[in-house]
Amino acid sequence: EQAEWAKLVDEPSVSKDGKQFEIAANIGTPADMDDVLKAGAEAVGLFRTEFLYMDSDALPTEDQQFSAYKKVVETMAGKPVVIRTMDIGGDKPLPYLPLPEEMNPFLGYRAIRISLDRQNIFRTQLRALIRASQFGQLRIMFPMIATLDEFREAKKVFMEEKQNLQKETPGIGDDIKLGIMIEIPAAAIFADQFAKEVDFFSIGTNDLIQYSFAADRGNDAVSYLYQPLNPALLRLIKHVIDSAHAEGKIAAMCGEMAGDQRALPLLLGMGLDEYSMSASSILRSRSQMRSLTTTECAAIVDEVLAKCQTASEVEKLVNERLAK
Ligand code: PEP
Ligand code: MG
Repeated sequence: EQAEWAKLVDEPSVSKDGKQFEIAANIGTPADMDDVLKAGAEAVGLFRTEFLYMDSDALPTEDQQFSAYKKVVETMAGKPVVIRTMDIGGDKPLPYLPLPEEMNPFLGYRAIRISLDRQNIFRTQLRALIRASQFGQLRIMFPMIATLDEFREAKKVFMEEKQNLQKETPGIGDDIKLGIMIEIPAAAIFADQFAKEVDFFSIGTNDLIQYSFAADRGNDAVSYLYQPLNPALLRLIKHVIDSAHAEGKIAAMCGEMAGDQRALPLLLGMGLDEYSMSASSILRSRSQMRSLTTTECAAIVDEVLAKCQTASEVEKLVNERLAK
């Protein structure tokens, strides 16, 4: 199998009936790019920049960040690179940035909430990103967006920094697309309204499942509730994808579910555009995608949403239909 998959490195991610999708890579540092190239990723769908902050003993400077972003963007040579602004807090503390002790860190002061509150940190990161955008196709994504106000505020800060940099470099950053993670249920439910203002969505199922089922993603005692195939979650995901498409926007997914073999037929049937996953899953997913027909998968989605009430019923029905 591995040898068969290896032949697909330079092949496109298409379904059996010839529909083109994108399989992208999730990375944590520029050092991950070797594996990304070896796997033949069509994009970087998620650069988790918090590792730049965590692997350092002080806030990374604008120039340090610039060179990390530039390296990744240059390596992709014009293919899209989605860089997420820092997602600190929750399970990812920073030793040199003391944050208040919290009863519920996953529901607390984290990610975009910190960025909008401590704007000097956010503005430094945005400047580094805007400068790096000159070296390829860079997109910016905001994590943990719950409300439209947060997105508008983040966009406003981005526009201000862009305008400042444009005084010296006219036009810099003008082609940067701005997107959001869909990982909070309120944003998923309101996707139809977000889609009017953002350029793209990336569904973060690791957190979206955690928050939808109120089940800590790292707690074994409640891991039975962690159900990517639960019909309630599938409905929500379909709503997000449909909402993006209604406004002509891209719907991506960068949580673990994007590389889950059981989920791929359903996501393909819903028309998800981009699948971002760890480099090690890319070729397996591409191989599976090339064996699936989108019209058949869309019919399975319809049947699943009409008939199934539990995750295990979904899994069983998908397997039965694909076995035919
Ligand atoms: C997610 O929540 O699905 C996601 C991709 O972000 P992270 O795993 O970094 O929280
Ligand atoms: Mg997340």
